[in-house]
Amino acid sequence: MFGLKLNGTDHSDEQQLARLARKIAASMTHSWQIMEVSGELTSTMLRHDLFRYLPPDLKIVHGPGCAVASVPVHIFDRAISIAQEPDVIFCATAELLRIPGSTKDLLEVKAQGFDVRVVYSSIECIGIARSNPDKKVVLFNVGFESSVQMDALAVWQARRLGVSNFYLLSDHANLPPVVSRVLADRDSQVNAVLVPGQLACISGFEDYEPIAETMHRPIVVTGFEPTDILEGILKAVNLLEYGKATVENQYKRAANRQGNLEVRALISEVFEVCQRQWRGLGVVQAGGYALRPEFSAFDAHQVFAPLGACEVEGTGCISSEIWLGMKSPLQCPLFGKTCKPDSPQGATMVSTAGTCAAYFKHQFKK
Ligand code: SF4
Repeated sequence: MFGLKLNGTDHSDEQQLARLARKIAASMTHSWQIMEVSGELTSTMLRHDLFRYLPPDLKIVHGPGCAVASVPVHIFDRAISIAQEPDVIFCATAELLRIPGSTKDLLEVKAQGFDVRVVYSSIECIGIARSNPDKKVVLFNVGFESSVQMDALAVWQARRLGVSNFYLLSDHANLPPVVSRVLADRDSQVNAVLVPGQLACISGFEDYEPIAETMHRPIVVTGFEPTDILEGILKAVNLLEYGKATVENQYKRAANRQGNLEVRALISEVFEVCQRQWRGLGVVQAGGYALRPEFSAFDAHQVFAPLGACEVEGTGCISSEIWLGMKSPLQCPLFGKTCKPDSPQGATMVSTAGTCAAYFKHQFKK
């Protein structure tokens, strides 16, 4: 069945979205502000212009849902420094190569002749290390649990196979504590939160239950299709209207309360939760993952010489207010002028999944 495509949705989607929109409007007796915390959710909302379905007294804001955007500049400086060491093969995703440190990015390091490679999976680096025993192979990776699980497997395999020239430089993020941090902000106007269903497929959503309870805000695990998002919003509105601060799962077809126990066991065998500096938000307790001490021989943070920390954001950047749900990228005077994806001035523009980068892409595509 072929349908007319509007903003990437077909006719039947349109009917379903319109039906959900009517339900949302009919359920509301108050103004509400709902925060979504996922670059994917931001992108889908903008790509399909889901805002046009929502009543004017329902405000959607975008929280800190992009792990790459949350990496401090000094981590990129560290990566650049290691990539320039002799005998290092430096591996990362294509996106991480183009994110600037204080003075340059990894693409420039590659152009200078250093051995910087794009890899598509963490486990690929084990093969590179085994083929190059006289080199130090460093994998640079950043992400939420979907990336953590891949790195956990790579490090676990490196130990099992006795690969002693593989190192991981990671700055992985743990989302629930940062959701708690945002909701605890005394200026926060956020009434409810949509969290990404794909992470719940791995780690479940039980960690959000005490957050919903102590912060008195409902949390809804939400999928990425346009209808998922409006369904998630409808669930959040209903919870708000009934005064229930609980966790609901819209993404039941893939996510459950406990997640994938096998993958969680692998992650917790290799990594432990640690405090993490979130660019734009500061230090978040339990906001990241670090390799456990028994895997320290693979930890590039420990094996390679440290650098001093350096500046965080350009003057005038309002990333932190965006991540707290207080401002939109369109309220930043630098947006689309001095700050663009190829000249980012702050956290939310550096990654394609960052809020400012997503707004830039959809604002200027027409
Ligand atoms: S547009 Fe740039 S400077 Fe403005 S908030 Fe976003 S990242 Fe910061």
